[in-house]
Amino acid sequence: MDPSINIDPGDAEQAYRDKVSTITSEGKRNWLYPRKPSGRLYNARKILSYVLLGFLFAAPFIKINGQPIILLNILERKFVLFGMVFWPQDFFIFAAGMIALIVFIVLFTAVFGRLFCGWVCPQTIFMEMLFRRIEYWIEGDTPDQKRLDRSPWNREKIVKKTLKTGIFFGLSFLIANVFLAYIIGADALWQIVTDDPREHIPGLAAITIFSFVFFGVFARFREQVCTVVCPYGRLQSVLVDDNSIAVTYDFSRGEDRALLNKRNREKLDDGSTFFTNTDKLDPAKSYGDCIDCYQCVKVCPTGIDIRDGIQLECVNCTACIDACDEIMVKTGRPKGLVRYASYNGVKEGVQNKLFTPRIVGYSVIFAIVFSLFTYFLVTRHQAEALILREPGRTFNELPDGGYSNFYNYKVFNKTLQDIPVEIRLLEPAGDIHLLGELVSVGPHDRTEGRFMVFLNRNDMEPNRTPIEFGLFANGELIHTTRSMFIGPQNP
Ligand code: SF4
Ligand code: SF4
Repeated sequence: MDPSINIDPGDAEQAYRDKVSTITSEGKRNWLYPRKPSGRLYNARKILSYVLLGFLFAAPFIKINGQPIILLNILERKFVLFGMVFWPQDFFIFAAGMIALIVFIVLFTAVFGRLFCGWVCPQTIFMEMLFRRIEYWIEGDTPDQKRLDRSPWNREKIVKKTLKTGIFFGLSFLIANVFLAYIIGADALWQIVTDDPREHIPGLAAITIFSFVFFGVFARFREQVCTVVCPYGRLQSVLVDDNSIAVTYDFSRGEDRALLNKRNREKLDDGSTFFTNTDKLDPAKSYGDCIDCYQCVKVCPTGIDIRDGIQLECVNCTACIDACDEIMVKTGRPKGLVRYASYNGVKEGVQNKLFTPRIVGYSVIFAIVFSLFTYFLVTRHQAEALILREPGRTFNELPDGGYSNFYNYKVFNKTLQDIPVEIRLLEPAGDIHLLGELVSVGPHDRTEGRFMVFLNRNDMEPNRTPIEFGLFANGELIHTTRSMFIGPQNP
């Protein structure tokens, strides 16, 4: 712990550090009933979420040049991003892209905190914009949900809970299918769905397991994914600093909190309401703009109080900003008591500082890695051959005194056109005899087969002879690859 943080164990204001809002003192789950959010930022999130949901559901099914927008086929080690195919040979490009992405996430988080979680993360979008909204639609807002949960199993409860569970499971089943389409591709998924089920037991088992996992996550596990499981969330404490812009309570403006409530409010001329609970206020004290109404806490999907400062559990969903702005309008105070700001910005009352030395450093690293990734991408071969000596086989001695070895080949076409290809032996002199036919490779496709190589004993070295192949397209050398030719100790 930072020794500069002086925490008194008996300090009620610091008590939040010792507990997790979703766990009771007995160690049980504290089920959250966040109030239905509303407001300017929530509306903006809704629009963005529905655009992203549309993309998420459509991406594996829409094809560009015959390839899906996104395919992450781990089983066949084939990855497609926006119609561009990456084979295992391109792994270094993929790795450079992943490193660039990680550095970008670090940079983005250092500047904007956990903004990604609240606005773009599929978990938040599915939970808050799909499942939670269905829950509000069926069971109502917080008080209705609490009442329903406490009530005995009467007709209303049975109907509502059955309807909710049915819709939740149906959505989970749909998400499981789409999730599988990202891994095995839309065509393979379609086969599983339409063929005889007995032929696709593993695929159907995967869909069933994923359906139950998604159902469990969205119906029960919920915010625990963000606060307990998500590694990105756990990284917040090392990625953000006092200059990071995040959802922040303006303590310099809000404190001391004035305890005001609904029973003491007055209508102002402009229609807004002002709370006047003077008997609970100490006349000797000067009060800030926070009226301690707890609306920011009631809407929070992770159950925290943003007034305690930036916390690991905060997914930057901005629901508390909307809730507090609404209160500020009602009480005739300026909006933005809870807003996007940095700790230093709030403390010193200055503009948020974007370009700190740390951010400049991260930006330079990102620029280097991203340039490397772009270079690899632009200069990658149009086609590539992977040639390996056939495993488990030794050499054959030929009647003319020469020797032969068997090889397996795979030829990958990374372009959008059909490429006529040919494999030739470059070094040393010798012959290739294809077992089968190699004429051309289709766009973003691969072909594989076998061939034999014949070498004259005079061109061979003892035991192992380095050998080089060339892949030719339209008579032009486009890629070379090396292997070994094995022979006797004294050829
Ligand atoms: S504190 Fe505010 S921004 Fe953070 S999760 Fe809760 S409601 Fe969302
Ligand atoms: S909603 Fe605003 S005024 Fe109400 S408790 Fe939260 S910060 Fe204070």
